Amino acid sequence: MAGRSNQFSTNSKIIIVGGGVIGLSITRALALRGARDVTVIEKGEFGREASWAAGGILAPQIEADAADDFLRLACASRDLYRHFAGALHKETAIDIELDTTGTLYVAFSEAEEREFRARFDWQRSEGLAVEWMSGDEARAIEPVLSPGVRCALRFPNDYQVENRRLVEALLTSNRNLGVQLIEQCEVSEIIAAERRVRGVKTSREFINGSTVVITAGAWSSSIDPSATLQVEPVRGQMLCFRPEPLTVRHVIYSSRGYLIPRRDGRLIAGSTSERVGFDKQVTEAGAAAIKSMAIEIMPEIKTLQVVDSWAGFRPRASDDLPVLGKSSEIEGLVFATGHYRNGILLAPITGELIAETIVSNAVSPLIEPFSPGRFELDSPTQ
Ligand SMILES: Cc1cc2nc3c(=O)[nH]c(=O)nc-3n(C[C@H](O)[C@H](O)[C@H](O)COP(=O)(O)OP(=O)(O)OC[C@H]3O[C@@H](n4cnc5c(N)ncnc54)[C@H](O)[C@@H]3O)c2cc1C
Repeated sequence: MAGRSNQFSTNSKIIIVGGGVIGLSITRALALRGARDVTVIEKGEFGREASWAAGGILAPQIEADAADDFLRLACASRDLYRHFAGALHKETAIDIELDTTGTLYVAFSEAEEREFRARFDWQRSEGLAVEWMSGDEARAIEPVLSPGVRCALRFPNDYQVENRRLVEALLTSNRNLGVQLIEQCEVSEIIAAERRVRGVKTSREFINGSTVVITAGAWSSSIDPSATLQVEPVRGQMLCFRPEPLTVRHVIYSSRGYLIPRRDGRLIAGSTSERVGFDKQVTEAGAAAIKSMAIEIMPEIKTLQVVDSWAGFRPRASDDLPVLGKSSEIEGLVFATGHYRNGILLAPITGELIAETIVSNAVSPLIEPFSPGRFELDSPTQ
């Protein structure tokens, strides 16, 4: 917009709306860059929505069919994880259980085998780490696998993290850095006047702010003053089994779902993908579908007891891609939402690059393709 100031003072008030992994990663990155007046407002408890429900799989390659902008962003974030986990441990003494064993994608049919062959070939030709395994080779490293597994791809650099510990570590880090953390307080409206953000109306009071970042996950559209966003909730259900003793090492994927072994012995199975609004129920049909997918991968699951189940809302934008960057409609408004199925994976890079955008006004080429501008072009105000 003509005549806009691009100046940022580290004393400017920044308000982050939504305290999931995305909001908390951004506030931490801002505070580490010297931003002094940073507040994150959460309508419930910090990190108890999608960021709590997630599986914590950090697997950019497993479903990738092209070396596109999304793969570049996702791999860059995954590659930050070792440093991110180490830094968080130093800052908070919390181990986020980054597990680098790798991810195994198993095929049961000829059609799936053909698809795997194509993925293996193109990823190899791009220099990405991927290994081809026969069914027997896969069973040799994961003996619990079904005899029905024909072949597998192993992605040695696709990891997993304990996302609930990640939430705890981010919260503690933010607390230590002096970020103002406000819980149980809902932002009802982001106030803008003359195309500039002025602050937020909350269930308690009005809070002034010159920069407001929308990190409200699946709820983001309802508070967007520019009406740019169309983010919807996509429900995912999860089951948790307790195998004795734990016999799975890799995250194991099939085209129908996945199994995640946690360090404490839990085995998590997911998930469903349902457009049912903000209904957080675990349903009989959802649980049955997850269980049958899990048994297909690992027949022994039949004998295991389900000890927990839950559901959460993936924040999905209309093109399935994240929405990252400044609004060109309203000065001071920033988006970091729509992370859909990959918000845990994308948390470190989102934190770094959105903080950089706010503090230095520098837009990394990695996030440029995910700018809100791609929707603003279609907006009725244009
Ligand atoms: C079942 C399931 C499995 C998943 N598995 C994985 C996985 O393996 N790997 C991966 O990378 N990703 C996974 N995801 C996706 C990942 O969980 C999300 O992309 C990520 O958590 C999004 O983070 P967020 O901070 O944007 O959203 P959230 O964690 O939902 O946080 C948004 C926060 O904003 C708050 N809020 C909303 N509106 C307001 C308001 N008006 N005022 C104040 N606060 C507000 C909410 O209460 C919430 O706490 C999974 C998701 C689900 C549901």
